[in-house]
Amino acid sequence: MAKRVYLFNEGSKDDRELLGGKGANLCEMTNLGLPVPYGFIITTSTCREYFKAGNRLPALLEQEYRVALDIVEKKMGARFGDPENPLLFSVRSGAPVSMPGMMSTILNLGLNDEITEGLAIKTGNARFAYDSYRRFISMFADVVMGVDGQKFEHEIHQYKATHGKTFDVEMSAQDWQEIIRIYKTLVDFPEDPFTQLKMAVEAVFMSWHTPRAIVYREMANIPDTLGTAVTVQAMVFGNFGDDSGSGVAFTRNPSTGEHLFFGEFLFNAAGEDVVSGVRTPLPVEALKERQPDIYDQLFRTQVLLEKHYRDMQDIEFTIQEGVFYMLQTRSGKRTGRASVKIAVDMVKEGLITESEALMRVSPDHVEAFLHPMVDPAAKTDIIAKGLPASPGGATGRVVFSAEEAEEEVAKGHRVILVRRETTPEDIHGMKVAAGVLTELGGMTSHAAVVARGMGVCAITGCAQISINYAEGLFTTHAGVTVRRDDVITLDGTTGEVMLGDIPKTEASSSDDFQTLLTWADKHRRLKVRANAETPTDAAKARELGAEGIGLCRTEHMFFDADRIDVMRAMILAEDLEERQKYLDILFGFQRADILQLFKVMDGLPVTVRLLDPPLHEFLPSSDEDIAALASHIGKPETKIRQITESMKEVNPMLGFRGCRLSVVYPEITAMQVRAIITAAVEATEQGFKPFPEIMIPLVVNVREIRLITDIIEQAIREVLTGKTVSIPYKIGTMVETPRAALSADRLAEVVEFMSFGTNDLTQMTYGFSRDDVGRFLPAYLAKKLVENDPFVSLDQRAVGRLMQIAVTESRARKPGIKYGICGEHGGDPRSIRFCHELGLDYVSCSPYRVPIARIAAARANVGEDLQD
Ligand code: ADP
Ligand code: MG
Ligand code: MG
Repeated sequence: MAKRVYLFNEGSKDDRELLGGKGANLCEMTNLGLPVPYGFIITTSTCREYFKAGNRLPALLEQEYRVALDIVEKKMGARFGDPENPLLFSVRSGAPVSMPGMMSTILNLGLNDEITEGLAIKTGNARFAYDSYRRFISMFADVVMGVDGQKFEHEIHQYKATHGKTFDVEMSAQDWQEIIRIYKTLVDFPEDPFTQLKMAVEAVFMSWHTPRAIVYREMANIPDTLGTAVTVQAMVFGNFGDDSGSGVAFTRNPSTGEHLFFGEFLFNAAGEDVVSGVRTPLPVEALKERQPDIYDQLFRTQVLLEKHYRDMQDIEFTIQEGVFYMLQTRSGKRTGRASVKIAVDMVKEGLITESEALMRVSPDHVEAFLHPMVDPAAKTDIIAKGLPASPGGATGRVVFSAEEAEEEVAKGHRVILVRRETTPEDIHGMKVAAGVLTELGGMTSHAAVVARGMGVCAITGCAQISINYAEGLFTTHAGVTVRRDDVITLDGTTGEVMLGDIPKTEASSSDDFQTLLTWADKHRRLKVRANAETPTDAAKARELGAEGIGLCRTEHMFFDADRIDVMRAMILAEDLEERQKYLDILFGFQRADILQLFKVMDGLPVTVRLLDPPLHEFLPSSDEDIAALASHIGKPETKIRQITESMKEVNPMLGFRGCRLSVVYPEITAMQVRAIITAAVEATEQGFKPFPEIMIPLVVNVREIRLITDIIEQAIREVLTGKTVSIPYKIGTMVETPRAALSADRLAEVVEFMSFGTNDLTQMTYGFSRDDVGRFLPAYLAKKLVENDPFVSLDQRAVGRLMQIAVTESRARKPGIKYGICGEHGGDPRSIRFCHELGLDYVSCSPYRVPIARIAAARANVGEDLQD
């Protein structure tokens, strides 16, 4: 039978999967010789075993951990369950992937009436003993026995009120004893320490399945099958007196990434007091004045840990009567800006390689450089200031609960979730909120950590507001009242709260970000292009690093007010002569626009897709529009109505689209090609280097392509005859019907490139209408009938297989062929990884996502990542 229990000196940081992240790191720190209270870990595989047996602990488990427990007792010089010299434990959960605050920790386990009395005598600190005991009872009852923790809070509140006390420090040993007596009327709790331990172990296993843990795993893409380890560790006490305390610190600033030790600390407090945000903590430097030696030890420890792990660490420590203990270390969560700065700095410091730096910056982190920021010049009406917990700017209507947040967002509103503090129960609200504002808590409070992880703008510890949930409002110290549904703006970068909708500036880059992008370019094989039609978008794309245009949708070029009627007239034309008249006008627009694109994309390829208009989107429907069009183009209203009526399609998405148009109206295609090639000639004559790629959409077989290619070649000859310039054009197709993918070997006989139009390909593979999917896809996701929205993240099983067949079979027929992707998936990191593995040549995405795609392409090339 595999070993189920490991002592802290029996594992290492490489045992995350078996011992959980927390356990593995406690082992690592023990082996480094750091002062870690000793303990043992029950493995994640025991947790899986437990679930497999229908939630039953393995028969031998207790025997196994009692052996380890004996060793811990010897090492600590105290005994579990011994009133004379009691050893207490913390029971902590730890999954292979960090899930902060998700699972429950039980502290001071091993206390009962008799042992608490013993502890009071042994320590000579009765107040501490009873304080610890009451904490244990409420925690145990809450976490293990499922009694609502609020009940206990309520009793303390009540007691304080009737005894004229406000703060915990005013509570004496007798007060706590009285509280304990009351608690015991609320819960029938086990006095036997070994029973407590066994129940706690089971509770940690069971906490894997709590709704909040499930929500977090879903959000962070963590597999449900991993399970959690249980860490059983000797207790140390930060609440022992004024020479004790607890703190949380980061080896670098988690908000900015600045290379400065950064932490928060409370004297005479347990760690939970710092993390929960009930008391607003002091900066860790406070320790420097009162206990300089300890501060030194802490400082040296954090330097050591960062060097050792080669990453920014988030640490928890406790001081008991002037003795320093390490309770946890892990890779610290950080903002996008911080993550880029830290990664780039660490390469410069020689700590990590460029590839490692790229793997440290997730695509989500990159978003931070692309998020809006509150315009400093536009700031007015600052009503309060809190801690800048998670950067960016956000505006929305005020709501006071996670439920309200969800409701309002479902109605299409943006919301700011305002809470006294947040708990994991609020995550579903934080997820949908534009921003989060809390009255209490520091930079390491739940609200701050979770919001940073989600990239949601947040301000915490905003003591200048006081919330009144009952009335649905908060007031500021300056006397401003803000009610539910009022609009406010948060600046998560400065901590300022403002009234109204304050303008935000575009996201700004940084030198570090540029450096990282340069490395990404060095380490990627996939090229990145943009989907763009206008010169402005194209210029933006190029500025953000696009290496060409992967998709220029020509129909989008005719949406402008002064053009749409010409386009409509062309569609409504009753014969070739009439149509040609309008095509000639459209030719002028098209040629001029594409010339602009060639200039902006000088030296880079520009893929122009032939017209793929959803005709119904172009035709007028309202009476006014019809009347206006009639007078503009001199066609009777009745005639327009009649033709429009005759063009109605039952199923436009599967209707008269794409190259089907070229088949019926070759003159449209001829016009477009003449425009493209004429623009290329003009660009060349003006000294630019255009690389036009003409793309045929919605193809189903090679005969279509042959027919259309003939039209294209003919039009090109017309333009180029008698000219001396040579234009390096290419003809290719968009693979977006399953049939095209399956006959790609034949298509390859004619085309030089294939670009996967995965929006349509997904639509047709699933038979899910892109336009109507909103009606049922949410239910599919909720019921887990599909894992991801296939329109966002490429469905590798079916759509991906079609792509694979297309690539493999066409490449076998014509080796030099180039492949790209231009659906929404071209900007999705997970899909990009797939495209890399499939050996495509480029991805194409919206201009704004180009930097994300550059980094995602590099990550796909340099390493594997669970988070992708
Ligand atoms: P989380 O996964 O939420 O960080 P932890 O297991 O780290 O939960 O426990 C929460 C808090 O409990 C810690 O911040 C620490 O202050 C306290 N704690 C855990 N173990 C001990 C211990 N052995 N002695 C004292 N405090 C402890
Ligand atoms: Mg912790
Ligand atoms: Mg399409």
